[in-house]
Amino acid sequence: MNTVAAYAAPAANAPLERTTVPRRPVGEHDVLIEIKYAGICHSDIHQARNGWGEGIFPMVPGHEIAGVVTETGSSVTKFTVGDRVGVGCFVDSCRTCSFCEQGLEQYCTGGGSIPTYNGLGRDGEPTYGGYSTHIVVDENYTVRIPDSLPLDVAAPLLCAGITLYSPLVHWKAGPGKKVAIVGLGGLGHMGVKIAHALGAEVTVLSQTLRKQEDGLKLGADHFHATSDPETFQKLAGTFDLIVSTVSAPLDFSAYLSLLKTDGTLVNVGAPEEPVSLNLFSLINARRTLAGSMIGGIAETQEMLDFCAEHGLGSEIELIRADQINEAYERVLKSDVRYRFVIDASTI
Ligand code: NAP
Ligand code: ZN
Repeated sequence: MNTVAAYAAPAANAPLERTTVPRRPVGEHDVLIEIKYAGICHSDIHQARNGWGEGIFPMVPGHEIAGVVTETGSSVTKFTVGDRVGVGCFVDSCRTCSFCEQGLEQYCTGGGSIPTYNGLGRDGEPTYGGYSTHIVVDENYTVRIPDSLPLDVAAPLLCAGITLYSPLVHWKAGPGKKVAIVGLGGLGHMGVKIAHALGAEVTVLSQTLRKQEDGLKLGADHFHATSDPETFQKLAGTFDLIVSTVSAPLDFSAYLSLLKTDGTLVNVGAPEEPVSLNLFSLINARRTLAGSMIGGIAETQEMLDFCAEHGLGSEIELIRADQINEAYERVLKSDVRYRFVIDASTI
């Protein structure tokens, strides 16, 4: 057992502070990763504040991890020392259920995938995430970061990137499709970049027009403020696909009305409270309301290769570890452009 430096929330709602946590010895199939960068996802904030309940404290958040392999277990075949690698939202799963077999480990039904943090590992010990200097991960739950992607802008792809790539590909965003992304934050800005690269006509639906110039630069064709009631009248029946990345409860009935007949609204946001729905917004145009959670390991690799091919990284603000609490406050105010990334050398 090794002890490594980390930033942890000692209890729900307590500010994060520097501490140490144990990492298991490098097993036969494990790689030891020196973490270079870790993104701050809004999910980290929901969990550090116990907004989803059942949080395990002290909690070391972080599931957007980019680093370099510094040691490999005796049976590791996929990686060698010096490889540039990433770890996303989960670090293991049952490996035998039909979803694991299909590469949909995020939907594992054999006990569920093991979260990178705020979960219990196979050894029954709490898992600790990426706000740390090192992590030990099974090679089968580790992905390769292509050489052309700098590690700092690649880190957010491990959650924000895959969470948008997976539904955009599944619901066939592409040429001839009108796609709207709701919320221009960490997830949303990657959604704009990826949907644009897939060839779709992209609209951003943001609370205000404050981020309009950025949105258009990121690849959006149109940008509208949802605080303007006219937006909902003007855009009624427009979109084939809407992806909502909003971290707070939303009036889904209003957003559903923006879909064409047979259109789909995919929600990836994970607000802490339930929402209510006027079901007529579904039945009157055979619309679908769906959800989607991150992506599997193979699809995460596919997404990283796609991003490398199209030169897509995250827009980041690199911070020191002692700025994490301040960064959390700014994310809560939708004041992030567009992902905070921790320089792990400052932990
Ligand atoms: P983020 O960077 O804070 O972005 C969320 C954006 O939503 C904000 O930038 C803001 O965009 C908009 N927003 C915030 N509050 C709003 C409100 N009250 N009304 C309307 N719009 C609002 O967060 P993120 O890291 O992208 O994560 C977004 C959500 O997805 C979180 O709930 C997170 O837990 C969840 N998540 C889900 C998955 C999954 O697998 N499904 C994966 C990762 C994260 P504008 O300023 O443009 O309005
Ligand atoms: Zn995340």
